[in-house]
Amino acid sequence: MELCKTISEIRQWLQDWDNIGFVPTMGYLHAGHLSLVKTARKETEHVVVSIYVNPSQFAPNEDLASYPRDLTRDLKLLQELNVDAIFFPDDREMYPRGFKTWIKVDKITQILCGKSRPTHFQGVTTIVSKLLNIIEPEKMFMGEKDFQQLVVLKQMAQDLNFKTEIVGCPIIREKDGLAMSSRNKFLSSQNRKNALCLYHSLQKAQEMFDEGIRDSHKIIRTMTKIIERSNCKIDYIEAVNPFTLEHQDHLQKGDRVLLAVFIDGTRLIDNREIR
Ligand code: AMP
Repeated sequence: MELCKTISEIRQWLQDWDNIGFVPTMGYLHAGHLSLVKTARKETEHVVVSIYVNPSQFAPNEDLASYPRDLTRDLKLLQELNVDAIFFPDDREMYPRGFKTWIKVDKITQILCGKSRPTHFQGVTTIVSKLLNIIEPEKMFMGEKDFQQLVVLKQMAQDLNFKTEIVGCPIIREKDGLAMSSRNKFLSSQNRKNALCLYHSLQKAQEMFDEGIRDSHKIIRTMTKIIERSNCKIDYIEAVNPFTLEHQDHLQKGDRVLLAVFIDGTRLIDNREIR
């Protein structure tokens, strides 16, 4: 497994490789990340993983400084999965002095998570553009856990004619249903229990749909009650079309219910497809 800190190092290895599968991460890896690596392993010949906590996608009041990091453990986990190369640059490598260029996707970045995090997606699209230009992968594997991010990056790849195919992969959950996230580490044991309300409210949405309820406002009202009962603060709950992210009054199969919730200062997101 090649360990590359600089763009020139990783580019040297990539010269000899075709059919690259790429998994961008911010590290502190869990089974969700590893599932993306395993899918990449199956679908592409060479697998490259990046580990980089991208400062430009965090607002000044967010958790950049405390974001969990454990590079030694991450490298061990990736080695066990036969990853070909790890790219783990530092800030000076990715944002050298004089950096001035930002990639911005319109409209779909200003709703949902973009409302409370107005500069977040600009940070994501900029860093992913840079990584795609550096790695030039055949396919990039991303989790549906960050569903809006997936839609935004697919839009960007289409609009800017990136060659890379963006592959969405299913959400990996703990046994009790909590979506795996590096931020779950911040939860106290009581808050870890409370956090199950995200999953339970999404399950409830599906149950109501199964009972024939199609009015998304009614479903969202019930989800709101479930979450408020658990002492969590709702950022948003929305029912959307999975391609356009437009609000749906009347739910149909294939639509997505998405939510973001604060639990004692930790912001968690989750979503599910209505089937
Ligand atoms: P992050 O390190 O949080 O930036 O995530 C890196 C990639 O892993 C993104 O494509 C995420 O959507 C994906 N990911 C994070 N958590 C999960 C999960 N529980 N299941 C599947 N993919 C995930």
